[in-house]
Amino acid sequence: MIKQILEKVDQSAELTPDEIRALLGISDPEELQALYDCAYRVKEREVGKVAYFRGIIECSNICVKDCYYCGIRKSNQNVERFQMDEEEIIREALWSYENEYGSAVIQAGERKDPAFIDMIERVVKTVKEKTNGKLGITLSLGEQTEETYRRWREAGAHRYLLRIETTSPELYAKLHPEDHDLEERKHCLALLKKTGWQVGTGVMMGLPGQTSEDLVNDILFMKEFDVDMIGMGPYIPHRDTPMGKEIPPYTDEQKQTALTLGLKMIAVTRIVLKDINIAAATALQALEHTGREMGLKCGANVIMPNVTETEFRPSYTLYDNKPCTDENSSMCRGCLTARITGIGETIGFNEWGDSPHYAKRNAHG
Ligand code: SAM
Ligand code: SF4
Repeated sequence: MIKQILEKVDQSAELTPDEIRALLGISDPEELQALYDCAYRVKEREVGKVAYFRGIIECSNICVKDCYYCGIRKSNQNVERFQMDEEEIIREALWSYENEYGSAVIQAGERKDPAFIDMIERVVKTVKEKTNGKLGITLSLGEQTEETYRRWREAGAHRYLLRIETTSPELYAKLHPEDHDLEERKHCLALLKKTGWQVGTGVMMGLPGQTSEDLVNDILFMKEFDVDMIGMGPYIPHRDTPMGKEIPPYTDEQKQTALTLGLKMIAVTRIVLKDINIAAATALQALEHTGREMGLKCGANVIMPNVTETEFRPSYTLYDNKPCTDENSSMCRGCLTARITGIGETIGFNEWGDSPHYAKRNAHG
């Protein structure tokens, strides 16, 4: 059965929801390897064997929201809050440019106050000016108004990441306080499209109470919504959160299970959505040292090395045992480059690496 489905994939045929479910249900090691190899062939055919770097700048851990899974949620009193100043963010973006990363991602907890919105707008404009428009800028700053999305887009950023987290209304309600709304999240994704962004979304896998049916629906949602990029990763508990408190630290076996689920989701998403960009999330590396490279071998084509100053890194702890919190940016660049070329891929230095899907979406109007 699995063999036939993978043959269908090799012939570029569309899969049915039942076939997607069957792929996500694979547990036999040989079939798993066949799935990963098949996803890699799709990746090679659709987007090439090139990994793109996006230097991620985690510029603030101040957040107005209170997601039950996240280590920097508003109610966590055990976090030292920080907000980088403008010069700092600009310096790190320029570091990414000088190190030929092609793009930078500015990510933070959610803030909607005018001072923050103005500051991000100025930062984006300045980075664009200082790099002659050459550094691609992705933002990942949560739910905002249409006007804010428009202003940041006009300032020069062009990609936005807003994970839907899960498309199951019941599960979403369990993961968030009452005033966090799945429909609002979807509305924001629609606003991002309307205001001309290359839009990225994604989910967490391995959430307590999540079923394989939920994951099938997540993939179908991402396909239907016609997203350009995906950033998804395993859920990892954080001890100071309402959800993490309930869960003892993962055993090695649980880590392995979470990693396999993460890799399977990447592979099946590549197979179903084909020509999009998929990031190998840092959370994969928290489960296994080479987790992100494994993600590339299963169909991901984007890596987001941390370029945040080492002093701020420990304060941006979304989950326990987040990797590289004690390394500096140059160490990350060196070790990642060696590991990626070691698996036979090239790195798209100095390129934006936009998803071919976005170009096609625009060409079709
Ligand atoms: N505040 C913005 C937002 O939520 O869209 C951007 C920053 S937020 C920290 C980025 C992502 O971190 C979220 O979309 C969520 O999926 C992920 N995240 C938070 N807590 C996590 C955890 N415990 N395990 C894995 N991923 C987590
Ligand atoms: Fe805030 Fe994002 Fe964490 Fe939710 S996931 S608490 S919005 S930083």
